[in-house]
Amino acid sequence: MIPSYTTAAILTAPRGAIAVTSVRVAEPGTGEVLLRMEACGLCHSDLFVASLEKLPLIPLTLGHEGIGRVEALGAGVEGFAIGDRAGITFLASTCGACELCLTGRERFCPRQLNFGYTVDGALAGYVVVPAPLLVRVPDTLTAAETAPLCCAGWTAYGALREAGLRPGQSVALFGMGGLGHLAIQYARHLGLRVAAVDVSERKLEMARSLGADLAVLAENAGRTLQKQWGGADAAVVLTGSPAAIQAAFRSIKRTGTLITSGLSTNQYELPIVDTVLKGISIRGSYLGTRADLAEVFRLAETGVGRAHIERHSLDETPEVFEAMRRGEILGRAVVVF
Ligand SMILES: [Zn+2]
Ligand SMILES: [Zn+2]
Repeated sequence: MIPSYTTAAILTAPRGAIAVTSVRVAEPGTGEVLLRMEACGLCHSDLFVASLEKLPLIPLTLGHEGIGRVEALGAGVEGFAIGDRAGITFLASTCGACELCLTGRERFCPRQLNFGYTVDGALAGYVVVPAPLLVRVPDTLTAAETAPLCCAGWTAYGALREAGLRPGQSVALFGMGGLGHLAIQYARHLGLRVAAVDVSERKLEMARSLGADLAVLAENAGRTLQKQWGGADAAVVLTGSPAAIQAAFRSIKRTGTLITSGLSTNQYELPIVDTVLKGISIRGSYLGTRADLAEVFRLAETGVGRAHIERHSLDETPEVFEAMRRGEILGRAVVVF
């Protein structure tokens, strides 16, 4: 039976409060499914959305890292049956017809909709969502541990692959939060030498326990990496901090690559002379390909890319977002329904 109401974590106004409240549950329409949510990770991009001056949908249910079970199907849905598990990512729908959509780069589609941003997200007991971009999630994994893979895991893996490194090369990962602690595991799996960088000693400690070859505070990163490794072949910035991007730039070797993948409304500045004379490539990375996401789930089944999680109830969401703003979460905070 479809309930009339459910509880959701909503953004009440642009830059407004995040509140837990009752919202209506719609019937799934054509091409949509109703999911009963099992778990949803809390991402810094939720805070990015909450920091925007204008939003297309208000009030807005946040969340784009969810695992649920199909409870009801709308007309014309193929590939999912009642009881199936499905994953919600940031990508809710794309046009399916533009050049980017037709070449496997649908994440850059200019007509995309995004869960927890332009359409309601996954932080609710029940959600009605378009089916085409839902992800198949193996039943062997627990919902709480798998939820972070839908954004943090996918983004981290996509960014690392974007760096185009070969086994034996070195990567410096900036930001040891939800993305970073998974990125270390993927980087090791890809045979890379890994440096972990953060502003928190506690998070560096975690990075060491996950097998980082080097774990350094951000303020020392450039000097230490140049001295010890002659610079990293690539630096991947997994936060939206301009200071992290600048520190990452100082950490790479000549002709190295800088990948940025954290969202922020800030601007960053980098020296032109060094960019040119050292032949540095600077690239943005957003999510990853569908193949990357499938690989993230496949790796999780083999024990690679295990999320370190803190479990919370939906009621605790506003406080947990505050703790995230203060940088206090180790690994990923996940709401379990
Ligand atoms: Zn995210
Ligand atoms: Zn498109």
